[in-house]
Amino acid sequence: MTPFLPNAGRSLRAHPSRRNFFLVPAMLFMLLHTPAWAQHSASVTWLPDYLTNGSPCIFTVRAPGARTVTGVWQKHPLEFFRSGNDHETWYALAGVDVGVEPGTYPIEINIGSISGPQSIQRSITIASAPYTEVALSVPEKFVEPSPKAQKVIEADQRLKRRVFSHSAAAPLWTVSFSPPLPSAPSTDSFGTRRVFNGSLASIHRGLDYHARPGTPVHAANSGRVILARSLYFEGNCVAIDHGLGMITIYMHLSKFRVKEGQRITRHQLVGLSGRTGRANGPHLHFSVRWQGDYLDPAQLLSLKLPTPAS
Ligand SMILES: [Zn+2]
Repeated sequence: MTPFLPNAGRSLRAHPSRRNFFLVPAMLFMLLHTPAWAQHSASVTWLPDYLTNGSPCIFTVRAPGARTVTGVWQKHPLEFFRSGNDHETWYALAGVDVGVEPGTYPIEINIGSISGPQSIQRSITIASAPYTEVALSVPEKFVEPSPKAQKVIEADQRLKRRVFSHSAAAPLWTVSFSPPLPSAPSTDSFGTRRVFNGSLASIHRGLDYHARPGTPVHAANSGRVILARSLYFEGNCVAIDHGLGMITIYMHLSKFRVKEGQRITRHQLVGLSGRTGRANGPHLHFSVRWQGDYLDPAQLLSLKLPTPAS
């Protein structure tokens, strides 16, 4: 694995000078210390190649000879995994929060090998997704909750902060994510700016599936149940940790079919759909959360993922 520098000998003969006194040891040092990735330079690519606010994405780093690969994207640490027996390719499942302003954002990848570190910096354009605005009518208690309700909401928030603050250090998912219900979701629901009773505005951070109460709801992928309880806005709510910061959330259920702490497999029954919590009709609200950012579930479902090495 000796790197070949074709002009080294000739240039030394052609320009004999004192400079070579320093040049020769410097070049010898470089010959002995040229890391594998410098001979086959490392690269980063991403899918989908057109990103908008709300896009989940997968970063692929080709880094022959790397021992570690880390990175930073959208101020979040990227957590890489490998697939099968390919030791040169590293993957990170990530995304762009639905609330991010369109623009150009940096990504930094850091590669460690026994020969030394290497860093890759790239700029990635995030385009604006065509999300719409709708006015909705819900019972007044959800727009201006009573002081008693406010206490419940604050307790829910503390619980969610605690539950969502850690995720498994390795991927728990197996293959690509699958829909929680067989029916098609309502197409314009994710990212919609919602105006409740003409006053309270929020961004809708999930995908709604219209479903008759009692319709079986399935886990989008393998993971661990980190939440299965009743909350003020979410109603009966199940959250599944898929590892490396990726969590799916199922809201407004009428019945639970899993318990907190339980390991579950892809497509396993998690509950029955309903209209508990802040719901203006029976439906399933399905959310995807990556390190606190909310991503478009429909895009995650169509993203082909490499199977993590076990
Ligand atoms: Zn919803």
